[in-house]
Amino acid sequence: MTDDKFHDECAVVGVIGHEEAAKFCYLGLYAMQHRGQEGAGIVSTDGEQMYAYRDMGLVAEVFDADNLANFAGSAAIGHTRYATFGSKDWQNLQPFLANFGRDSFAISHNGNLVNADQLKESLREKGAIFSSTSDTEVILHLVAREAEEKSFIKRLAAALAQVRGAYSLAVLGHNYLIAVRDPFGVRPLSLGKISGGYVVASETCAFDLIGATFVRDIAPGEILQISKDGKMTSDFSLGNPRSALCVFEYVYFARPDSDIGGKSVYNVRKRLGMELAKEQPAPGAELVIPVPDSGVPAAIGYAQAAGLPMEFGLIRNHYVGRTFIEPRQAIRDFGVKIKLNANRELLMGKRIVVVDDSIVRGTTSKKIVTMLRNAGAREIHFRISCPPTTGPCHYGIDTPSREELIAATHSVDEIKKHIGVDSLGYLTIEGMYRAVGETRSGYCDACFSGEYLLGLPGRNGTKKGPREPDTKQIQPGRGKGKGGSLVLAR
Ligand code: AMP
Repeated sequence: MTDDKFHDECAVVGVIGHEEAAKFCYLGLYAMQHRGQEGAGIVSTDGEQMYAYRDMGLVAEVFDADNLANFAGSAAIGHTRYATFGSKDWQNLQPFLANFGRDSFAISHNGNLVNADQLKESLREKGAIFSSTSDTEVILHLVAREAEEKSFIKRLAAALAQVRGAYSLAVLGHNYLIAVRDPFGVRPLSLGKISGGYVVASETCAFDLIGATFVRDIAPGEILQISKDGKMTSDFSLGNPRSALCVFEYVYFARPDSDIGGKSVYNVRKRLGMELAKEQPAPGAELVIPVPDSGVPAAIGYAQAAGLPMEFGLIRNHYVGRTFIEPRQAIRDFGVKIKLNANRELLMGKRIVVVDDSIVRGTTSKKIVTMLRNAGAREIHFRISCPPTTGPCHYGIDTPSREELIAATHSVDEIKKHIGVDSLGYLTIEGMYRAVGETRSGYCDACFSGEYLLGLPGRNGTKKGPREPDTKQIQPGRGKGKGGSLVLAR
């Protein structure tokens, strides 16, 4: 299970050239809360000193008017994170802040490094001491050791040349903001403009909230440096770039109001539903019911293509977080009932098509089906707007281990019986790419195909490192005002 500690889901944001930089980061993180709900942090700089604040909790719990007022300067970066087993520690919260020599920098990372164990081990042999169990800390150490390179950007490039895996980074120095995407561009990262300054963010929905205009995506393998006066330098020194954007961002992870890779996530999701209707019709069905919220755009597409009405047969309580964020099975099961309720009046005696974006463990769908049956649904045809999820993600989406993924160990027919539906149909890989409007070559679909283009943690001929020592740090209390003291660094 050591691999699991690196399964982080995150959002990164960075702003430069605006007096409200930290506040814009806060708002950007707020817009991207869905990418990580365990903790959040911001680091800003006034050119002389860095100001950092991180804590466990949702963005709105971590930051308030008082601590936001402490951030000085016109440049800042931010981070939200969620991580699985083994890493729910305060010291893993980002941005990480490092001092070396008389300089300092901060870093926010979305993605997972697959050779972090090996790099940590060799750094430890050279005397490095790690203060977290996060893979991102490896990058700090590598940068610090590239002392022969004169400019920071060259140090960073030399450090990143040693890491393998997925990384979209926002890096803050006293006079610059750097945005980086790994050579495969697995996780999204976009550049926007905001009155005199620039902003980078994992998703474009962050730009909309702060009134920034989209400029372009950071390219795979690009290191883009933006100075305080708006000067940009772009460098492509990271490996041989070839796009392998995560297709699951379209299926589930990104917000539907974001544009990723130049495409509206909402439109792609709707087309996934349309392709699904073509591939997996449900003869005799009278109504399309979305599993809210993530199944809604695909259900709209399905209903349109099938010529069926769509109705809300499941009503969501919006004050409950996503069920998957609960790490314990017992709480997860309970969570579905807290989150969704069946609309009895509508469902009684009906033959329905239920559309969801994906099945992971099968827990949610089983509960939903029971709920729909209890509400009187006569026939339930379950349709999933992606192929069966057969492999865990090692590149930045939190998925359980292979054994827990129902489609990794069960056939579609077995899953159908397990969740108790009259029929079950998934979209094919081909259908998924027809909806995306591209060929497979520019994407990572390892969770569906098992093709891990960036390699697997601890494998590919490299020795796997030992287990992380079990370190604990006393954690400040969760949320507002209770912890996460302001840290200053020169
Ligand atoms: P499960 O009960 O594990 O099958 O959960 C399936 C639900 O989780 C689906 O309705 C998805 O919307 C959602 N989901 C999909 N992918 C993930 C993921 N990587 N982490 C958490 N939840 C997810």
